[in-house]
Amino acid sequence: MPPKRQKTSAVTVYTRVKEYKDIFHVDNGLFFCNYCDLSVEWKHKSTIDAHCTSKKHLSQQKLYIANERNKNQQTLRKDGTISQAPTLCQIYLFRVFNKHLESLKTIFDLKPISIIMDETSDNCARSVVNTLFVFHTHIKLVSVNFLEQVNNSTIGQTLLPILTFYNIPLNLSCLFLSDSAAYMKKCYRNVLKPIILQLIHLPCIAHILNLIGETWRDFSQFSLLKTFLAKIKDSFVKSPARKARYITHLRMNEVALPYKIPLSNKTHWNS
Ligand SMILES: [Zn+2]
Repeated sequence: MPPKRQKTSAVTVYTRVKEYKDIFHVDNGLFFCNYCDLSVEWKHKSTIDAHCTSKKHLSQQKLYIANERNKNQQTLRKDGTISQAPTLCQIYLFRVFNKHLESLKTIFDLKPISIIMDETSDNCARSVVNTLFVFHTHIKLVSVNFLEQVNNSTIGQTLLPILTFYNIPLNLSCLFLSDSAAYMKKCYRNVLKPIILQLIHLPCIAHILNLIGETWRDFSQFSLLKTFLAKIKDSFVKSPARKARYITHLRMNEVALPYKIPLSNKTHWNS
């Protein structure tokens, strides 16, 4: 008789959370009961079921539901309108955020993802690094980190814990997309590639096109052409009559569909 085939669908702490929706959550890789606030061993279904039917769990569940009802009565007004911003921030934001985080974890759990990283600055001039994960049609912002220093090693130090947090094995990530800044390239070469061997670096095409555009604009050999275009623009913008004469001229020379003269616009041509 052939040996019994093993089940192929792997049970993880996240699939368990899905199975026991609203009863358990994952915290630091541990399977936590929402009601009892203690970790439960998740590998065996029988252990979880035993916990869920235990006296302690059932009484905690009752207490939790009663508390929730009380809270809702405090936050919802009699006429059913929504609470003020401070209440929403203190009570709801945290819960909504955690829920969102859990759904992100479910999307990317154990998946071969692509990573997008870019740096920007906020209105307090702090460096902010945004990390996005891509898997099939899912493109999600998964982390926003404020860095005191931005260089190849701090970018690497930012990314690796994010991969661990979302349960992405290092042998699964396949693509790293960033701008062509020297520290990003160095981060790929010296920090990420030695750890994630199959990782490919893709410099962002939008950033490259922008760089080419900037270079052309400041290219000294084009100064004569720039002056020429500016003078044409000046002579047409300030004279509607000249514009009309230009169209007439085109018609007289048998241009079937005469258009207005295209004028250069140095701030728009690369945007
Ligand atoms: Zn419990």
